[in-house]
Amino acid sequence: MKAITVKQPGGADQLQITEQPIPNIKSDEVLIRVKASAVNRTDIVNRESSGGYLDTPILGVEVAGIVESAGVNTTLEVGTRVMGLVNGGGYAEYAVMPANCAMEIPAHLTFEEAAAIPEVFLTAYQTLFWHGQLQEKDAVLIHAGGSGVGTAAIQLAKQLVDAKVITTAGSQKKLDFCNNLGADICINYKEQFFDEEVKRITNHVGVDVILDFIGASYWERNLNSMKVDGRWVLIGVLGGAEVHNVNLMALMGKRIKLIGTLLTPRSNDYKSKLTADFVVNALPFFATGQLKPIVHRVFPLHEVQQAHIHMEENKNIGKIILRVDE
Ligand code: NAP
Repeated sequence: MKAITVKQPGGADQLQITEQPIPNIKSDEVLIRVKASAVNRTDIVNRESSGGYLDTPILGVEVAGIVESAGVNTTLEVGTRVMGLVNGGGYAEYAVMPANCAMEIPAHLTFEEAAAIPEVFLTAYQTLFWHGQLQEKDAVLIHAGGSGVGTAAIQLAKQLVDAKVITTAGSQKKLDFCNNLGADICINYKEQFFDEEVKRITNHVGVDVILDFIGASYWERNLNSMKVDGRWVLIGVLGGAEVHNVNLMALMGKRIKLIGTLLTPRSNDYKSKLTADFVVNALPFFATGQLKPIVHRVFPLHEVQQAHIHMEENKNIGKIILRVDE
């Protein structure tokens, strides 16, 4: 089968199409004939470090496709259209998926739309509701609102608990898009200090939850934006991983819960519980149109280098898809 591997840890030019054996499945896994995969920041990290948390040298942590064969301890039928997380190996014609991570694709969605769902919607769902404990009418600050995870989080926060959604992004185009997705307040972080806006909008109370992809460069302003007893969920370090001159008194004084988390290295058991919860509480909203996958652009698999560069240049709003079945 065709698959994308990394020549040497480095830039997008290190991505290559190679011939690889079709993988074998265990009794609790299914083999997927992949129709589409999607690009994630974790793929870029894995490309730069060659591997990381993946079970295979093939990149890609999510796919949409058709069940080609199923392990003896699974109940999925061959031919079912599924989407879900994989432990690496998504940028390929065939991929192994733990059966409990497979979600049936809603009938009205294409494979390319379905591939835009698993990683970002499961991440946003997990971080907003499991870690952030976001409740009805809470105020939430979602950074990088135009990102894959950001566009999923805005929709989930609005549709599931009608939260007051405040979001940041770096261009008017992205802010307009976030507004159309349901965000109540959209702040251009290049033109305004978001913490001052948050204080103004919340009457100096702050937000209940922050979904933070940025890390170091937003540290102080996030601290300023947080409500007493707020939950601050750190899931990315696009603005740096090292914070200097931290005043821990402010964290204590506001009784802030700072939670860091990474989905990819989690166990299959954790991912399958998350998937099952999402299937019950969020997936039905796709059928009604209240949640939608956001496909920014589809690249054929052989243009994977361009797809990575597109993400690294911060050009996407929503997801960059790789069409695998060419
Ligand atoms: P994405 O679609 O590539 O979007 C990222 C956006 O962040 C960029 O388009 C850019 O938008 C903004 N950005 C980049 N650098 C920035 C900076 N220094 N300061 C402010 N904004 C910046 O990303 P994604 O795939 O949705 O992932 C978003 C983040 O979530 C990544 O950090 C990723 O690693 C993380 N993530 C974590 C987990 C986990 O389990 N921990 C799982 C999935 C994703 P602007 O034009 O608005 O600047």
